[in-house]
Amino acid sequence: MISEFDLIKQYFTRSRRDVSGRIVLGVGDDCALLAPTPGMQMAVSTDMLVEDRHFFAGADPRKLGHKCLAVNLSDLAAMGARPLAFTLALSLPQADAAWLDGFSAGMFALADEHGCELIGGDTTRGPLNICITVFGEIEPGHALRRDAARDGDDIWISGTLGDARLALAGYRNEAWLDAASHELAAARMHTPTPRVALGRLLAAQQLARAALDISDGLIGDLGHILAASRVGATLDVDALPAGAALAREELELRHRFTLAGGDDYELCFTAAPEQRAAIEAAGRESGTPVTRVGRIEAAPGLRLVDAHGAPLDLALRGWDHFQQ
Ligand code: ADP
Ligand code: MG
Repeated sequence: MISEFDLIKQYFTRSRRDVSGRIVLGVGDDCALLAPTPGMQMAVSTDMLVEDRHFFAGADPRKLGHKCLAVNLSDLAAMGARPLAFTLALSLPQADAAWLDGFSAGMFALADEHGCELIGGDTTRGPLNICITVFGEIEPGHALRRDAARDGDDIWISGTLGDARLALAGYRNEAWLDAASHELAAARMHTPTPRVALGRLLAAQQLARAALDISDGLIGDLGHILAASRVGATLDVDALPAGAALAREELELRHRFTLAGGDDYELCFTAAPEQRAAIEAAGRESGTPVTRVGRIEAAPGLRLVDAHGAPLDLALRGWDHFQQ
């Protein structure tokens, strides 16, 4: 078996590159050294992906490499931070060359899209477990915090929701998908797009107030903003943008999976109504669709309404079954 040292050298050490200009020292020493832009704050986030819990055993290594970094970049996006670098802690059952080739290729392809360089990590033998920590930077006071929503703010969603959950339904035989739908939905599940450019514009130009990325379903995640900001909200369920595959499904499934899907990695953010035009412009500039889906209100709780403003009484109990 390849030694730990050779494995790190072969798969996770690249010739020195420092797109951001903020990396003083990368892989190979006891610590990496980062020099954030003077006056900026560091934004740090960690996400761990465990086999059979977050991905299927035997998952395509290239897509897995993409997804592990994507979910971390998504957290930087949700804060409005600019990615700088990341570390990778990897537990592997064996040093499989084909797996390591695919995994590192998928991870580095996304890293290079965002100028975010691997600067260190840890490698050990054990059950497959992938833990990435990302480091970004942000202007002091500009971070899109969960506690910053205010009464009267619009609620916005980037991109579309529910396709990743639809793919899971397909794998579990809860839904039948034709080949085209399956392909669309599976791509959303396995290779999510972190909304980094949009998040940066929302924060740098101070367009949004509160934000987070939707990983566990819109209702639950929006609930974190409502709790932290001590506000309530009304959501227009018919305004929620369904993914391309989910859009072909019946209304009940669209409601269910846009509201409580999971694995979307879209941004949910709040902003003053005066910012509408600027937010639309930020969406165009970043190539990310943005949709206004509701409003923050002083009264606590989350109210669901249809396009006519009529309250929707969705069987919330049923969602647990789908949420697992
Ligand atoms: P230490 O003995 O200090 O823990 P290691 O032998 O674990 O050092 O790692 C040697 C160097 O390789 C360090 O710079 C570490 O950050 C880096 N490294 C280890 N594993 C990885 C990995 N999976 N990806 C990137 N860098 C790694
Ligand atoms: Mg180590």
